[in-house]
Amino acid sequence: MPEERVTPYIWVSWLTKLMVGESMCEWAAWFKAWNESWSYKKMPSDFDSTTWKIHHTLLLNKVRSELESDGKTVFVENQNKFTLRGKLASLGGKPDLITTTAGFGTIYDVKTGNPSPAHHVQLMIYMYAIPRALKHYNGVRFEGKVIYEDHEFAISNSAVDTRFIDNLANLIRRIASHTPAKKVPSLIDCSFCNLTDSDCFEKIQGEIPESGCTKDF
Ligand code: SF4
Repeated sequence: MPEERVTPYIWVSWLTKLMVGESMCEWAAWFKAWNESWSYKKMPSDFDSTTWKIHHTLLLNKVRSELESDGKTVFVENQNKFTLRGKLASLGGKPDLITTTAGFGTIYDVKTGNPSPAHHVQLMIYMYAIPRALKHYNGVRFEGKVIYEDHEFAISNSAVDTRFIDNLANLIRRIASHTPAKKVPSLIDCSFCNLTDSDCFEKIQGEIPESGCTKDF
């Protein structure tokens, strides 16, 4: 039986696909926010996730070395872990790398998969949260960089505007509500969701079907 938290705790990566419409099921984030992580079952991780972790670490170490060769002081993963406490919920995350110089900073996130708008949103949430959550970064103006294997994507500080913050706050309010968020089962969303059918009875399981064809167009 999952053990309910007193106040919801939301991990940044649970929000990113929802914010860009790559996932429509807010219930998964709602359930994870309200229940202690150790108290519910998760889908087993596979060999792909181990391979992903190895590739991610290799790329992260490469970027870190390059930044250090440029004379930058780099803070890495667990050094960057934050919890931002709001009235309704806490928001937690762990950016890959952070550098700062004289009131300006860059937050880096390293991605080995295909580029996605959800990656950009993840950095934008970090850019919003880090100066508020970690006292030593109060007042620092952050830009973001998503680092892929063959290119990088820069995000300016101005991207984290009132509209973005309102959207983020509205999503957090829905997930932090005592009223369960809407469940939207679909083969694609459920395939990428790590909850099991012990907690989500509507989970759809199976292979994603091959595309059909038509001669009409
Ligand atoms: S298993 Fe499917 S319906 Fe259930 S929470 Fe996950 S995505 Fe939503």
